Amino acid sequence: MGSAIPEIDSILGVFADLLPTSAALHEPEIAGNEWAYVKQCLDSGWVSSAGQHIGRFEGALSDFTGAAHAVATVTGTAALHTCLMLAGVKADDEVIVPALTFVATTNAVAYMAAHPHFADSEERTLGLDAAKLEAHLSDITDVKDGACINRLTGRRISAAVCMHTFGHPVDLDALAEVCGRFKITLIEDAAESLGSYYKGRHTGNHGRLAALSFNGNKVMTTGGGGAVLTNDAELAVAAKHLTTTAKLPHAFEFIHDRTAYNYRLPNINAALGLAQMEQLASKLDRKRTLAASYRDAFRTVSGLRFFEEPENCSSNYWLNVLVLDKDRRDVRDDILVAANAAGFGCRPVWRPMHMLAPYRDCARMDLSVAEDLYGRIINIPSSPGLAGSPNNGA
Ligand SMILES: *Cc1c(COP(=O)(O)O)cnc(C)c1O
Repeated sequence: MGSAIPEIDSILGVFADLLPTSAALHEPEIAGNEWAYVKQCLDSGWVSSAGQHIGRFEGALSDFTGAAHAVATVTGTAALHTCLMLAGVKADDEVIVPALTFVATTNAVAYMAAHPHFADSEERTLGLDAAKLEAHLSDITDVKDGACINRLTGRRISAAVCMHTFGHPVDLDALAEVCGRFKITLIEDAAESLGSYYKGRHTGNHGRLAALSFNGNKVMTTGGGGAVLTNDAELAVAAKHLTTTAKLPHAFEFIHDRTAYNYRLPNINAALGLAQMEQLASKLDRKRTLAASYRDAFRTVSGLRFFEEPENCSSNYWLNVLVLDKDRRDVRDDILVAANAAGFGCRPVWRPMHMLAPYRDCARMDLSVAEDLYGRIINIPSSPGLAGSPNNGA
């Protein structure tokens, strides 16, 4: 203690009060029926892309999120790719993506041979700024024959993928309204927002399709995995078809009616997911408890603020966020170095997409808020276990 940067002492002081002597950024918590369900797969030999746990896991996801359909996939990125295909995105289209996101959102657009078109975020939600997007689209597009055409490039803007940053819902009503007016299909990258609600409804229900992720560092994990959510029965059937090599049902023949993907989540991963689902409510409770402790503790700390859920939302607080004051951005890296050296997993937000080599030349609007936030955000330890032991539902 006694550093030249007061925020370092304040932050380490809060960690000393609230956390054990060291803490990772976010760890998986395996505390229920994982062993039993995985053993069922091992004992039965149903470890791969068929088996009872997959359907059960999809049912549990659908029940929890309120989405009519859930289709499990091998990764969240595969789920995003599937969403874009089902939304009718074509090669050479443009797709609106926040500049401030994890690279998977943008990569999925590139897999379509479509062009990411970066949009700015708002400080209130850390996600897409609907008003700024609307102004931008009004400036540069014409809606002709039900399609939104970028006048500068001549390309169709067919979809927009919003992302609920660190579990905080974007302003979905405003975005849906703008997308509707400009004939752009809204897709939600809900990889970080399992357990987050916008106006009482689970995220992932407001666009035409949504993607979840169950990677090891997410709120819950299947080792690796994801899911497509939709409320459209036809899209759900198409999602299943596209992620299972487009194989037509037949007693023994291999008949495939289009080029498709082997994106199905294996049964052994679904077994993990089913056990994790049983503990999800407990994880979310404890994550919100941890966030409340951070909120109270950081209230009196100057130079930064603890990011709280947007109005009318309930966030899962996947990764807790400190936002440095604008005039304190210079100390971000010193804080990161000191906190990690002290044993506390802290990291900056992703480098904005237009600053990454593969996406430097993409279309974009003014991205000043994303660029500003990039210098000011610090994620701090967020595992549910930091707010008590699991009281698992097993
Ligand atoms: C985790 C994540 C994904 C998907 O990641 P996978 O590792 O492929 O499951 C996509 N978008 C965002 C914003 C994410 O945080």
